[in-house]
Amino acid sequence: MTPTADVMVVTPHADDAEFEAAGTVASWTKEGKQVVYVVCTNGDKGTTDRSLKPEHLVAIRQEEQKAAASVLGVREVVFLGYPDQGLEDEPQFRKEIARLLRLHRPTTVVTSDPHRRYVWHRDHRITGRVTLDAAFPYARDHLAYPDLRAEGLEPHKVREILFWAAEDINFRSDITATFDLKMAALRCHESQLRELGLANLEDLMRQRSIQMAEGEEFEMAEGFHRVLIGP
Ligand SMILES: [Zn+2]
Repeated sequence: MTPTADVMVVTPHADDAEFEAAGTVASWTKEGKQVVYVVCTNGDKGTTDRSLKPEHLVAIRQEEQKAAASVLGVREVVFLGYPDQGLEDEPQFRKEIARLLRLHRPTTVVTSDPHRRYVWHRDHRITGRVTLDAAFPYARDHLAYPDLRAEGLEPHKVREILFWAAEDINFRSDITATFDLKMAALRCHESQLRELGLANLEDLMRQRSIQMAEGEEFEMAEGFHRVLIGP
C-alpha cells in the first residue's frame, strides 16, 4: 500500500499541536512532506465562559483548528470527536488510531508525551499512550484487527514517534525559519488564547524556543522525546 502521509500528528485538543510542534510541522510541509492531523477530542469543556454552549464551542474549535492547519500546510484534519476530558485508554480509541495509521501509513508520528509526571491533562497522557500502543504493536501486526485487513488496511510500521512536552528531551528540531508560521497558526486559536489571557504570547514562545535551542547550532527549537521503533 502506498503511504498517503509522511507524518501523522495526533493531538488531544485543538491547539496542543500548535503550541508544541507547529514549527516542526511547518518545516516539514515546506520540504514538501504530507502531514495529516488527528484531533482526538472536540474541546467541548475548555471554557470559563458560562454563556457558551458546548456545541457552539465544538464548532469554534474545529474552525480554528482547520485555519491553523491550513496556515501550516497540513493536508487534512481528522476530528475523532471524543468529549473533552473524556479520553480513555480503551480498545475502540486505540483501534481508531491504528486504523488511521494503516490508512495514511506515516513514517513519523508526533503526539503528546504520556510520561510527564504529576500535573498533566489526562487527555494528554492518554492520547500519548494510546497512540504509542496503536503504532506499536497494533498497526504493525497482521493478526491485530482482521476486520481492518478485510477492509484493505494492511499492517504498517511507523519508524519513529516524537513526543512533545517531554521531560526527557533527546531531539530538538530547528524552527528558526518557521517560528513566524507557528505564531500565525497559534493565533488562529483565538477562542483558546482569549481564555489563556497571554498578552505577551509571542515573547513567551520566542523565549521558550530560544531556550530549547541552547547548545544547538540553530537559534530556535521545539523539543521532543524521540523514539525509534523500526528501521
Ligand atoms: Zn490539550
